[in-house]
Amino acid sequence: MTDRYAVIGNPVAHSKSPLIHTKFAQQTGEDVSYTAILATRQSFAVAVSDFITQGGKGMNVTVPFKEQAWKSLTTDLRPRAAAARAVNTLTFENGKIIGDNTDGAGLLRDIEINLKFPVAGRRVLLMGAGGAARGILPELLRRRPASLHIANRDINRARDLKDGFHASENLEVAEYPDLSGVQFELIINATSSSLNDELPPLPKGIFAAGALAYDLMYGKGLTPFLRFGQTQGAVKLADGLGMLVEQAAESFLIWRGVRPDTHPVIAMLKGEE
Ligand code: NDP
Repeated sequence: MTDRYAVIGNPVAHSKSPLIHTKFAQQTGEDVSYTAILATRQSFAVAVSDFITQGGKGMNVTVPFKEQAWKSLTTDLRPRAAAARAVNTLTFENGKIIGDNTDGAGLLRDIEINLKFPVAGRRVLLMGAGGAARGILPELLRRRPASLHIANRDINRARDLKDGFHASENLEVAEYPDLSGVQFELIINATSSSLNDELPPLPKGIFAAGALAYDLMYGKGLTPFLRFGQTQGAVKLADGLGMLVEQAAESFLIWRGVRPDTHPVIAMLKGEE
């Protein structure tokens, strides 16, 4: 019998997850279906429990429900979801709702394996202190970068983010103007600034030689941040499409026990951009 999965969010009609998971299923021969479910904050918990009642095996959780899922929905929480305080993958098993977070693992697979850019020993800047930054930070720290700065418009949110992790001497919080004169080998834009065609106030000269500029946002053409990176000497530019496919592959692995090959799916979606 076909096993049912879905992504739940608001908005969700634009989500590429049904297409990605359908391609994974075809490639691996797994008998699964994957749909998109629209919910509101009020209907979120009921929509999940209805899906379970209908035989659903698992769900991806996207904007704006990741924190709500972490706070109120799961019976079991995997350590990386607990560290991120956000859930993007639910598994329904023996009456339990298991919460996990594959965003950080997905990003790091894209950076380290697809883009061949090891993070260990690098000077890293993470921009943003929202849900995505929370998911990424634990995985970045696990890679042992030489230093890791978090910059955010609202500095208190960045401080809260830092305080949620065990004190680490190479983890620092900075306001954007404080970054003047500092250089990084990897800069990750985990803000939603690109959605509004804006650029956080990064000082010039911030990219070290050989740097990678990575924007979590994806879509047509270069984002303002990637254009800035291009003019400021970053040698590698990447948008978040690879992360999107890799975090989906991590979810598929959790659910089905098989890791799909992400390369043909990334290539297909790039062709659509
Ligand atoms: P949140 O709403 O939780 O956080 C938004 C963050 O962006 C905050 O830190 C906010 O700063 C900052 N910000 C917004 N506008 C600006 C601006 N103009 N200048 C500087 N900072 C700004 O969003 P998420 O963390 O959930 O998502 C962030 C981005 O990551 C989105 O674009 C999302 O689409 C993308 N994403 C991509 C994924 C992928 O698979 N590729 C997965 C998950 C997310 P402040 O706190 O000061 O308001």
